[in-house]
Amino acid sequence: MTQTPTRSDFDQYMVPNYAPQKTIPVRGEGSRLWDQSDREYIDFAGGIAVNSLGHCHPVLVNALKDQADKLWHLANVYTNEPALKLAGTLVERTFADKVYLCSSGGEANEAALKLARRFAHDTHGEHKDKIISFRQSFHGRTFFTVSVGGQPKYSQGFGPVPGGILHAEYNDLDSVRELVGDDTCAIMVEPMQGEGGILPADPAFLQGLRELCDEHDALLVFDEVQTGVGRTGSLYAYMEYGVTPDILTSAKALGGGFPVGAMLTTDRVAPAMGIGTHGSTYGGNALASAVALAAVEHIDTAEVLGGVKQRHDLFREHLEAINRQHGVFKEIRGMGLLIGAEMSDEYQGRAKEILPLAIEEGVMALIAGPNVLRMAPSLVIPEADIAEGMARLERAIARLVAAQ
Ligand SMILES: *Cc1c(COP(=O)(O)O)cnc(C)c1O
Repeated sequence: MTQTPTRSDFDQYMVPNYAPQKTIPVRGEGSRLWDQSDREYIDFAGGIAVNSLGHCHPVLVNALKDQADKLWHLANVYTNEPALKLAGTLVERTFADKVYLCSSGGEANEAALKLARRFAHDTHGEHKDKIISFRQSFHGRTFFTVSVGGQPKYSQGFGPVPGGILHAEYNDLDSVRELVGDDTCAIMVEPMQGEGGILPADPAFLQGLRELCDEHDALLVFDEVQTGVGRTGSLYAYMEYGVTPDILTSAKALGGGFPVGAMLTTDRVAPAMGIGTHGSTYGGNALASAVALAAVEHIDTAEVLGGVKQRHDLFREHLEAINRQHGVFKEIRGMGLLIGAEMSDEYQGRAKEILPLAIEEGVMALIAGPNVLRMAPSLVIPEADIAEGMARLERAIARLVAAQ
């Protein structure tokens, strides 16, 4: 290929599992992006809660460049310094005693589910294999994780799904009580459902899950792939809730844009993942680990985390002002810089229509299901970019309303 790629090359060369917007960004800096014709955009999408420090943050660029000159990859026949530093840092800063490194959220959850099953198998016996998760939840796209996820459309049409998986209602402890028993090996839950529509858990719900797990000797697994690494204003959302899981998964913001994932667990549970039980060629890759270490160390500071809470308030104020003008939202919710605006009855199912209009106005956003406009910007997005992005979003929404 010698010519500059165009959007139609996507349809020609790529498997058609995505439907990307027309514009092709070519460079980014902070919370701004530029496309092939040098048009500028404000980024409220953040690569779906991944670009935690915006685009090309110097801390991450330096970590990547430094490591690029030293060592990229060994595979797990050897260990390496960046992986050990990342694991040690995560242990120091969380409930965890042990870390398994991998390259994505789906992989971290796959490891968590396999560990939970294996722990129950080794500790209690074969009967203890039931996994409880929640309707509308999202845990990744591997076959095990789509089956545990609560959106059947992602697991249908691929043949027999793995067994032993039960789905309860999110934020409804009674629906869990109906399913839980001595054959339950784990309950997997997002402290705030992301893809499912930006729904924070009630504190009593997570606390209740903790108690049910303790009663039935089951493991509590928090999927913090979307909520983790500063997104909610704490290093992990479990810290906001004061409810500690047995296993926690992290990815997305962990690498700030470099593919990396991690599964965190305790000294009690980790031994079930003994030598040879599980693995990944790229897990603990030196480049990925060096970038993730820099991201965690930079984000887990009072300055960055405190700024997340301030910015949350700004996003909310702007969205409420837009809503006073146009009345398109029913509810604005979320924690930290994971924010959802649910469409009002009049605009049911039409969140998606805002995205191309917003791009035309120069701002990028996301949806979470058909009804929720979602924002997951950089945790350090400047106030001026928030104001400008919101002015652009207001114009996009005015056009949606005018086209009624
Ligand atoms: C994005 C996401 C995943 C999947 O992560 P990938 O890196 O796409 O595999 C899993 N769980 C949650 C909560 C997510 O938001």
